[in-house]
Amino acid sequence: MSATGQAPVTSIAFLGLGHMGLPMASNLAAAGFTVRAYDPVPAAAAAARAAGLDVAGSPADAAAETDVVVTMLPTGRHVLDAYRPGGGIVGTVPEGALLIDSSTIDVADARAAHEIAARAGLRSLDAPVSGGTVGATAGTLTFMVGGDADAFEAAGPVLSGMGRRIVHCGGAGAGQAAKVCNNLILAESMIAVSEAFVLAESLGLSHQALYDVVSTSSGQCWAVTTNCPVPGPVPTSPANRGFDGGFATRLMAKDLRLAASAAAAARVDLPLGRKALDIYDKLEATAPDRDFSVVIDAIRERTPAQ
Ligand code: NAD
Repeated sequence: MSATGQAPVTSIAFLGLGHMGLPMASNLAAAGFTVRAYDPVPAAAAAARAAGLDVAGSPADAAAETDVVVTMLPTGRHVLDAYRPGGGIVGTVPEGALLIDSSTIDVADARAAHEIAARAGLRSLDAPVSGGTVGATAGTLTFMVGGDADAFEAAGPVLSGMGRRIVHCGGAGAGQAAKVCNNLILAESMIAVSEAFVLAESLGLSHQALYDVVSTSSGQCWAVTTNCPVPGPVPTSPANRGFDGGFATRLMAKDLRLAASAAAAARVDLPLGRKALDIYDKLEATAPDRDFSVVIDAIRERTPAQ
């Protein structure tokens, strides 16, 4: 028992072994937890086996007799399907077990998932992440967590096994709320930074000169100093490798749709958010897997050749 009277977590069911889930589950196994993993796609299950994980044949098989279930799934629909009776978790895990959903989903879906868990006598957290596949592999993710304080405390060792910074944002849905707000800033700031670089090009200003000024001035932000949309000033940014890897435009479009949905439910108007969603919606159709800083090409295309 811990100082708080809670038994330490030893066994974890991990559902969803995609780009993020596989390295996260692998880090939990490496941290000493007993991990039973599941993914319905045979290639994902095979990759998990090849990575040394114990792979179950069904969600219920993975979740039986575990202390904690972590889900890392594509959408809210997948999460709610997994949480609903018959999905393999509820009715399978012991009463008092802890459900942690780290997928990025709608705030309303996250709250619905908490309600399903509570009705079944299960503790739950929404715990979306920031840091992408690089952070998932390195175990340096940031977790934004919503849910009760006792569930948050119980989750500490599990989240620490996958991340570096863990922030309790508030009650049910607060983690997803923080995630959509952060990514709204990210989308809008990347468009603003890209517009500035395209304008600079037309004014005869070099990329490096603009970078040197902005990175130490009031325009400074992550979109400039870490993910700079032009090659050169930040050698590790995706612009240096044809926008390969990084944070895909389809995921940015998804997160902006979640922000729009949360804003509509809260009756908040987001004029720039609406415009950003329009821009990323179109970009998703042409460059779904490129890093979202490829938005600079879409802005350049609107600039007539000089
Ligand atoms: P992904 O599509 O690579 O992986 C999702 C996996 O879930 C797939 O392998 C799919 O087969 C599996 N799955 C679907 N239904 C399932 C079920 N019922 N049980 C078990 N597995 C099931 O997606 P990803 O890139 O790993 O992202 C996962 C989540 O994390 C998404 O919500 C995404 O928005 C979020 N996210 C992704 C990134 C990123 O950089 N990729 C960053 C932050 C957050």
